[in-house]
Amino acid sequence: MSTQSLQVTTGVELAGIDDLLTVDERLVRSSVRALCEEHVDPFVADWFERGEIDDIRGLTKALGDLGLLGMHLDGYGCAGMSAVSYGLACLELEASDSGIRSLVSVQGSLAMFAIWRWGTEEQKREWLPQMAAGEAIGCFGLTEPDAGSDPGSMQTHARRDGSDWVLTGRKMWITNGTVADVAVVWAQTDDGIRGFVVPTDAPGFSAPLIKHKLSLRASVTSELVLDEVRLPESAVFPEVRGLKGPLSCLNEARYGIVWGAMGAARSALESAVRYTLQREQFGRPIASFQLTQAKLAEMSLEYTKGLLLALHLGRRKDTHTLRPEQVSLGKLNNPRAALEICRTARTILGGNGISLEFPVIRHMNNLESVLTYEGTVEMHTLVVGQALTGIPAFR
Ligand code: FAD
Repeated sequence: MSTQSLQVTTGVELAGIDDLLTVDERLVRSSVRALCEEHVDPFVADWFERGEIDDIRGLTKALGDLGLLGMHLDGYGCAGMSAVSYGLACLELEASDSGIRSLVSVQGSLAMFAIWRWGTEEQKREWLPQMAAGEAIGCFGLTEPDAGSDPGSMQTHARRDGSDWVLTGRKMWITNGTVADVAVVWAQTDDGIRGFVVPTDAPGFSAPLIKHKLSLRASVTSELVLDEVRLPESAVFPEVRGLKGPLSCLNEARYGIVWGAMGAARSALESAVRYTLQREQFGRPIASFQLTQAKLAEMSLEYTKGLLLALHLGRRKDTHTLRPEQVSLGKLNNPRAALEICRTARTILGGNGISLEFPVIRHMNNLESVLTYEGTVEMHTLVVGQALTGIPAFR
């Protein structure tokens, strides 16, 4: 059989899930894909290799111009799109790179959502329009060097000084930190954990870049150092106390990850299918070996299942019936399934599988972070376990 006669005609999603999408949803998807093809795909392997995104502000502006920042929020310059449209955008962004999807997730679902959901009218008016437009970048500081899966044990604290607040502490692994104009920071107070809107030019605030990452290299990851950062009373989220505040935001971002991970999976699967048709061994395309086809079939199956789960959760979110343990099902399954798809694709590409000339190992390395952030596999397993048994087994 000649390689010319072998073509990928059907795409890698065989179940016809497209039929379940509306025309508007497909339009969002194709607009995001077009943006990625222009602004991300030609450059991202190089950004990953160098560990640096060229002109991150220009890219953020382009994302804002398309309405992708805080796109599922209403008002204040946000696009007010459906959860499914937001999910499809995450999928297309992550098909390019998990780091770019992370930029959008942290901006929209963590920093902007926190201000939109818990902020004062003044905070919303000040920050949301410029963040939606991509003119200001936000980050979200919850994790600390000694408080990751257990954020309730955070050490960062805010004390009252007259009507001011004074924040001291360190945050770790904070996406967008070094380039952010505004940080949503969670801190212990005499009144429980509270959230603060911190302009990053406040004296005492710094955000050193975390180097030496081998994952999510096309993403800015930082420490936040808060050294007696003085803020006015108007900087605090007025009502929310305790972990309910940050967890409500994480739930939003996790939802985007459920979709996004399937984008990385699709890209790896497409690469693998293409490669099997071009690469010949033993006088035949490797696509013609049953062992290779078994791998491809398994990958396609897991991709389809992950996509269906994402769409189901999205439809629930759009009808306001999505529960946190359902998001955990998706966050537990989809990054894990995507990573497995990438690992299998890597084997199919043989030696080329470890090269940045192909997207597969980049996605694979990225997904190691996606597996861990926004709640590790173990945390989401425990959430599902608690939902099944009624017994929390976190400690
Ligand atoms: P730990 O909590 O120390 O966990 C280590 C291991 O122990 C894990 O396998 C964990 O599952 C396991 N474990 C812990 N407790 C239990 C238990 N009770 N039972 C069983 N196993 C357990 N955070 C932010 O706040 N903002 C961000 O923007 C952000 N961006 C990130 C970007 C990247 C690239 C990365 C890698 C992380 C980012 N994070 C961010 C932090 C991320 O959310 C944490 O890394 C994650 O919550 C895990 O915390 P940890 O790394 O401290 O691991």
